[in-house]
Amino acid sequence: MDVLKIHPRGYCYGVVDAITMAKRVAQDPHVPRPIYILGQIVHNQHTVLELEHYGITTLDGASRLDLLDQVPDGATVIFTAHGISPSVKAKARERGLTCFDATCPDVTKTHTLIQERIREGYAIVYIGTRDHPEPEGAMGEAPAGRAFLVTRLDDVAQVPFTPEEKIAIVTQTTLSQWDTASIIQGLLERYPQAEVHNEICMATQLRQEAAVKSADEVDMVVVVGDRRSNNSNRLVEVVEKIGHKPSVRVESAHDLKPEWFEGVATVGVTAGSSTPSRITRDVIKAIESFPVKIPE
Ligand code: SF4
Repeated sequence: MDVLKIHPRGYCYGVVDAITMAKRVAQDPHVPRPIYILGQIVHNQHTVLELEHYGITTLDGASRLDLLDQVPDGATVIFTAHGISPSVKAKARERGLTCFDATCPDVTKTHTLIQERIREGYAIVYIGTRDHPEPEGAMGEAPAGRAFLVTRLDDVAQVPFTPEEKIAIVTQTTLSQWDTASIIQGLLERYPQAEVHNEICMATQLRQEAAVKSADEVDMVVVVGDRRSNNSNRLVEVVEKIGHKPSVRVESAHDLKPEWFEGVATVGVTAGSSTPSRITRDVIKAIESFPVKIPE
């Protein structure tokens, strides 16, 4: 089977920096033990397991404020690449924990923007994914009632702010640029005066554009990424909706099913920005080993 290796794919700079920071912290004998990460450092189970070998425990759960209660006094805590709300930082400081912040600079930029707009009296309409740590962290920069999460076009009617208010529309970094455009359009019809800040990061945009462009040259696209990786799930979506080709997401080569490839001659392979290269390499190798079966 022919494989088109789509570029760019896989780890972005924010993920590489976060993992490097976590490993450095683990190797520093002066850092207090035990060491915890508040949530998955990036949404990939393989990376979480690798960090376990470094002696880092990942705490996973819905609220990072509550997760902090599982960290014993005197321990170290690492904040993930997705960013963290001020209330979590304050609680960790009050508890006297040693803290390291692996927030991606692109996410920090969104936090700074929200802080500035809140100071200027704006209400924030945040376009993002429900139950994902990035919206939780970014919207945590706004006081209660001054930020509202919109996950799809239908939510626009639920936004509680009046058309007279100063509104800033801000997006999560890992969304589909095409879906986001239609939600922004819907919001602007209701709030024509709103400021729009499209914060989808360059790494996400380039991976999506490459996947859509490559869809023209292949019969289907396999996306390698964790089920919780927002940008991996968005890659599947944009290939199907914008590239008009079938797409599946796999977490590793074990998930591949030979029957997917019947009638397929060329497969594009890409990976979310939290997927380790070795996992993608294994998937490529496995697909290359499948024989081409074109029905007579
Ligand atoms: S996907 Fe974008 S925002 Fe997320 S870690 Fe990578 S560069 Fe940063």
